[in-house]
Amino acid sequence: MNDVDKVLVVGGGIGGLSAAIAFASHGREVELLEKRPDFNVPGVGLGQPACALRVYRRLGVLEEILDTGFSYNHMSTFDPDRVLIVEHRFLMGGMGLPAFCALPRAVLHDILRRRAQALGVRFRMGAEVSTFGGEHGTSIRFSDGAQAEYDLVAGFDGIRSTARRYIVGDMFGPRHCGIGAWRVQVDRPDCVTGMEFMQGVRGKAGAIPITRDKMYLFNIRPEDPSEFFAADAMHLLMKERLAQFGSYVKEIADSLTPESPIVYGALEPFIVPYPWHRGRVVMGGDAAHVVPPHLTAGAAMAVEDAYVLARCVTSGEGSIQDRLHAYGETRFARNAFVYTFACEWMDIEQSVRSQAELTAAKAEYARNLDGRISAADRILDAFTC
Ligand SMILES: Cc1cc2nc3c(=O)[nH]c(=O)nc-3n(C[C@H](O)[C@H](O)[C@H](O)COP(=O)(O)OP(=O)(O)OC[C@H]3O[C@@H](n4cnc5c(N)ncnc54)[C@H](O)[C@@H]3O)c2cc1C
Repeated sequence: MNDVDKVLVVGGGIGGLSAAIAFASHGREVELLEKRPDFNVPGVGLGQPACALRVYRRLGVLEEILDTGFSYNHMSTFDPDRVLIVEHRFLMGGMGLPAFCALPRAVLHDILRRRAQALGVRFRMGAEVSTFGGEHGTSIRFSDGAQAEYDLVAGFDGIRSTARRYIVGDMFGPRHCGIGAWRVQVDRPDCVTGMEFMQGVRGKAGAIPITRDKMYLFNIRPEDPSEFFAADAMHLLMKERLAQFGSYVKEIADSLTPESPIVYGALEPFIVPYPWHRGRVVMGGDAAHVVPPHLTAGAAMAVEDAYVLARCVTSGEGSIQDRLHAYGETRFARNAFVYTFACEWMDIEQSVRSQAELTAAKAEYARNLDGRISAADRILDAFTC
């Protein structure tokens, strides 16, 4: 049964672009609505685990991603002076896929946008949904005054989603958890060949290579939710926060200037219990769940959501309500795992508040970290498409 011909995807992030490609690949007529006037996306880099790479293969963009990005198969955990505590070989990928491939966010956007365009997706830029009307919520009035009817509206409009508000109201949504992430793109030292973390006191630093020449350096630490960081002081604030770390982190901290491309974001995790739809308006990606970045899998989950949504909806099995329910049920379970694991990991690392606790954490990591991440690898890698 084909009861969904015309799809509106709200949001042109990684999730929305993937949803647009997935529906268009199933022969649906797709329009993508993005509130930004262009695709000049802020952000730094994204590590994409093998489960997302498998979806990218289905979407027809894997080769370009692998050619452009930096692939890695291991993760190392160090002390603040970059003395190794434990190395972990990811149990993901295989059959031509690395465990991870990371690339600049803007580059990934560009690859997906071009693929969507090639499949005939129409872009409506610089506008938002003003009202979800009609019996199914799919009679849309846009902020630029236009109106249109769709068979399905897929809300991938990020953490402050309007689709989520339509579906579940204001009950569920982002809350600052008292932790913030500082990131800056810099030249990659030769020694950084995979993802790495340096556990410190009150926070960790780390790096992810995103091209042959570049990586991003990050610092995840407690931050006051009411704090405002002035743009011209960001380099001094980041340098101050990195003071406990040695090795290349110290060199980078010393080299930061007012021109350094520093990005700060508060962590605001949440997950909405399913169902993730109301009528024929459905959501996915950060609209439905936001996870701490510890498994580097938030965008990966958005991409999986997009693929599974298009597969469920176009399968034609059962009523459209049954199909949307099945989508939410399947995706909630997987995202709840990622959410719980990432929140626990963040709590463990952020609870190190003294040198004595750092010594204890190092011993615990040496004993258990490899096994803990292996368990997550197996579950993340189990996604088939
Ligand atoms: C510090 C940090 C590091 C991270 N690292 C990784 C990583 O390495 N790997 C990984 O997989 N994930 C990572 N993530 C998570 C990842 O960034 C997000 O999960 C991912 O971007 C979500 O994609 P999305 O398309 O759902 O939402 P978004 O990327 O937020 O896209 C939403 C889009 O919708 C648009 N929009 C918003 N509201 C409207 C509206 N009303 N109407 C129309 N358009 C609208 C926005 O402009 C935006 O373009 C990280 C997150 C953080 C905070």
